Amino acid sequence: MAVAQNNNQSAAPGLRDFAAQGAVFDGLMHTLRSGNYVHAYLICGISGVGKRTLARLMAQYILCRGVKDEEPCGQCPDCIRFLDGTHPDVTYLRPEKERKNIVVDQIRELVAMAGEHTYAGGRRIICVEQAEKMNPQAQNALLKTLEEPQAENVFLLLCEDTALLLPTIVSRCRVVKLHPWSEKVIMSALERAGAPMEHREEAAMLSEGSIGMAMSMAADTEFWDRRAQVMADFFSLTARWQILQVSNLWKDRRDQAEELLRDVEEMLRSLWLSHTGLLDERGIAGFPPAWRQLAREGDDAAFSRLLDAVFEARRRRENQVTWQAVVEGLLTHMTEEIQPWLK
Ligand SMILES: [Zn+2]
Repeated sequence: MAVAQNNNQSAAPGLRDFAAQGAVFDGLMHTLRSGNYVHAYLICGISGVGKRTLARLMAQYILCRGVKDEEPCGQCPDCIRFLDGTHPDVTYLRPEKERKNIVVDQIRELVAMAGEHTYAGGRRIICVEQAEKMNPQAQNALLKTLEEPQAENVFLLLCEDTALLLPTIVSRCRVVKLHPWSEKVIMSALERAGAPMEHREEAAMLSEGSIGMAMSMAADTEFWDRRAQVMADFFSLTARWQILQVSNLWKDRRDQAEELLRDVEEMLRSLWLSHTGLLDERGIAGFPPAWRQLAREGDDAAFSRLLDAVFEARRRRENQVTWQAVVEGLLTHMTEEIQPWLK
């Protein structure tokens, strides 16, 4: 990624950082530069791919009344108020904390405001985050506004999956589809953000194209400590007699059961992804050699048995089997499966 240099926040992403997204982004930049904004954009893509970042940059660009080309100027009164979070013509809507959905009353308020003149005399940005959380009534209320656009308003709708929106909403918007990022882009974003060096590569691999996930993963020391512990206890056994030792360590940690099972499952999944070629071998570099060899040379059935063993462990836990016995069962399956690969 190129480093944005025309504002003071060189570590913060700029619009040009989205250029690696290709043609969709070129088209978007073209409309932004020309000032011929459409009245509604629908920015979609996986969680952590940069939808909110792009929406904020677009919002600032549209509001900016300074000299701008590739990036907003960062210095005009509109930019300054936007960056301060005090611009009067910017509204964000997301599900309220206590509710799962965006409800029709929230949209009605928004629609009423959209009918009034803007405070600053320029454009108004209305950003609906997690737009798929609008219930059908709310979507219908919004649809009316999208069908009768007002020149001042630019709607930015964000969603992970357009299939969850009414087709009539999607068809009223210019869809900007963000693709998962390449490992190279994510590595350079991690570097710019100063993420801990020792976790960058693995975080980039495991995040599957989500910059947001890679960033939070790389900085999450608890995650790496836990992973190291699970690696040592569950992926390093070489003989059956060690099973009891490990299950003794874990027998009083029932409160961490769900987390542990999820970690084991995710780690098995990484091995399986590497087995299928979907994850580079460097993504499993931290596993002991026998597990890496299983990933290279084992068969699909081994992975389905291992993932079944985690499923079985969950089921037994729900059926009130003692936690220590659940751990022993899981370890037995894992130790059996890895035996042929131990030298
Ligand atoms: Zn500006």
